[in-house]
Amino acid sequence: MKWYYKLILLIFCAPVGIYFIIRDSIRQIKTNKKEGSNDLKKSLKEVKAERESLLDLITDIFRRRDIYCTWCGSRQLKYLEGERGEWFWEYRNKDGSQDKRVSGNFQQAKYISKWQCKKCDAVSKYNHYVHKKPSKARKVHSGWLVTDGTGERNKTDYDRLKDSETVNTKNANRKGDN
Ligand SMILES: [Zn+2]
Repeated sequence: MKWYYKLILLIFCAPVGIYFIIRDSIRQIKTNKKEGSNDLKKSLKEVKAERESLLDLITDIFRRRDIYCTWCGSRQLKYLEGERGEWFWEYRNKDGSQDKRVSGNFQQAKYISKWQCKKCDAVSKYNHYVHKKPSKARKVHSGWLVTDGTGERNKTDYDRLKDSETVNTKNANRKGDN
């Protein structure tokens, strides 16, 4: 091959070669950028999740401990509704009427509330301790499932009161009888 043929070939081929090199490197940069932004998105998501779980952990300290989801055990609950139980006298006769011998006798009632879990959507009902001012703010001693949650259930209904400790409002409670 004569030297000027080589020169012509080089002049013709060089731009094509350069074109391919530039195109490939541009592609490489583009895919790098894409992967990079995906990584960034991923890590942002992770950071967000971490931040949320950290927030959960902090707010968890302030969340009441007596009430939790009977499906998954989460204490992130949304109050739905509640109702007061029947009033009864602290000191009462056999028929439930007020024991008038006692001064400072008072009436109280329990409270039943319904809450939905924010994590698994399960709905549970809860029994609150009897009180002169019954409300959902009273401590809960038992909870039971009303509507199933998502996923598998890993908690059970609970009752912290033994039968002997529950108030039998149908029985007389006369001061000094015990
Ligand atoms: Zn739950």
